[in-house]
Amino acid sequence: MENQKVQHFVEVPGTTVSYPETLIRGSRPGKRVTVSAGVHSREYIGIEAVIRLTKELEQDQVCGQLRLIPAINYSGLIARSADVCPEDGENLNRDFPGDPEGGSTRRLAAFLEKEVTADSDFLIDLHSGGFCEALTPHIYFHGAAAPEVNRQSEALSAYADVTCRVRSTAKNGFYSYAGQLGVPAIILERGDCGLWSEKEVEEDLADVKNLLRYLGVLEDGVPCVRHDAQLYPTGWYEDAPVSGCWYPAKKPGDPVEKGEVLGRICDIFGKELFVYRAKDRGKILYQTVSLGIEEGSPMVAYAVEG
Ligand SMILES: [Zn+2]
Repeated sequence: MENQKVQHFVEVPGTTVSYPETLIRGSRPGKRVTVSAGVHSREYIGIEAVIRLTKELEQDQVCGQLRLIPAINYSGLIARSADVCPEDGENLNRDFPGDPEGGSTRRLAAFLEKEVTADSDFLIDLHSGGFCEALTPHIYFHGAAAPEVNRQSEALSAYADVTCRVRSTAKNGFYSYAGQLGVPAIILERGDCGLWSEKEVEEDLADVKNLLRYLGVLEDGVPCVRHDAQLYPTGWYEDAPVSGCWYPAKKPGDPVEKGEVLGRICDIFGKELFVYRAKDRGKILYQTVSLGIEEGSPMVAYAVEG
């Protein structure tokens, strides 16, 4: 039904999971776009930006259909859980494709594929650096979907006010699996360390509105392109090879040269266990900033120049 704004909690069958959704069906025809946040429940900037969008937008401002999901992992937001769904401890962004007969988070993934992704022409997913993770703002676009989907995702990624656009080849997250299903999507990353500020929320909000103008959902202005953004064809996402104390050598946004030391891990007596050197020239996207680091957990990520 057109020309309405509906707000409710969506219950995922066979689980105790539910998430909030605002569905705005505009008074004029247009694309079906989903804006989501809170796949990771302590990445607050996107969550708050979508809450504000939910309050601000009415059906007479929207062309087509706009689905707003401020906190996909809503129970995780309330429980302040880390990057996992509290029902079963799974990271939703590693659980695609879903399974309607699987555990709680796999069922949620399957439900999102069917009810959200399949009902979207484009998907905008908002993330931040995690609880102990510093990050420079950047945007991901598809590099492992069908060529036309990759192209549309890459084109969309030019409309956020960030200087770093990174091609991604992951397939098992909400955004990345949307690409596998033929739906162009982007991830916008802004903010870090489990914190949020008014400035960052405003920046996310401005970016999402600009993306929605490009997609024709909003008609309140001309979309702006960030012409000076650098496009990175790939990146390295490195996990700690050993537990210990982590000493990063750089800051997010810093350029890196091939062979440069990006950080060290020492044992608790100060003895050096590991030195990480950059494999390629590029730019630091995010890195762990806690002193303690566990083997197999994220350590440093950097975009690589072509
Ligand atoms: Zn995230």
